[in-house]
Amino acid sequence: MLEIKNIHKSFGKNEILKGVDLQIDRGDVVVILGPSGSGKTTLLRCINFLERADQGQAIFGDIHVNLKSATKKQIHQIRQRIAFVFQNYNLFTNKTVLENVTEGLIIGRKVPKADANELGQQALAKVGLADKLNSYPSELSGGQQQRVGIARAIALNPDIILFDEPTSALDPELVGEVLTVMKNIAKEGTTMLVVTHEMSFAKDVANRVIFMDGGVIVEENSPKEIFSRPKEERTQHFLRRVI
Ligand code: ATP
Repeated sequence: MLEIKNIHKSFGKNEILKGVDLQIDRGDVVVILGPSGSGKTTLLRCINFLERADQGQAIFGDIHVNLKSATKKQIHQIRQRIAFVFQNYNLFTNKTVLENVTEGLIIGRKVPKADANELGQQALAKVGLADKLNSYPSELSGGQQQRVGIARAIALNPDIILFDEPTSALDPELVGEVLTVMKNIAKEGTTMLVVTHEMSFAKDVANRVIFMDGGVIVEENSPKEIFSRPKEERTQHFLRRVI
């Protein structure tokens, strides 16, 4: 469904992505693990054009895009299919929960407001926030705010949702509620690419785990294989430290 070929990205003299290939099939839940600074977030951001790659291709169904030179129209086409959940939620503080969720539908997708409100309410019900439609982000806990971020992604009905360390800004006691929501939408068949340090999510929910280090994919396998029999020394070393 989504194929990424040979992504390279540098910031100044630092080469952060050194030729990453990735294939995501419909229904996949792919978790990317790796040490801090290995390029995980940069990879997600390049896929969604939040950063411009220096080199690389994306093939999304019938859309073939050069990640370096994609036109505005191509970026728009790709973003119609991909939703992004940010580490720091990225909610509009001056908009209500429902308005945060419907904004992308009304402005980005030109969905009529009444229909957008309906879709927004359905998405918020899925993440357990049906009673918070008219609240403002500042009135919510971090976990609730991130669930709004997830509802905003679901409401767009994308082909794939990219999650960039969705729980790492949260107090530990709020992580569980967000992981539960992610687990539920994964069970419904949502295609997801998730950067996380939550090993339990990788073990229990992913069907594929990618281990990145130093801007390359070092190893890729089922969670069972990666966690019980990692092949590469770098993966073994990383897992010994985090588990
Ligand atoms: P973490 O788990 O700590 O979030 P990561 O694997 O997601 O790490 P990235 O966030 O992709 O790593 O960052 C990789 C490297 O790129 C880091 O050294 C970071 O400082 C650098 N980097 C990321 N974004 C920028 C930027 N906009 N300008 C300069 N350097 C950047």
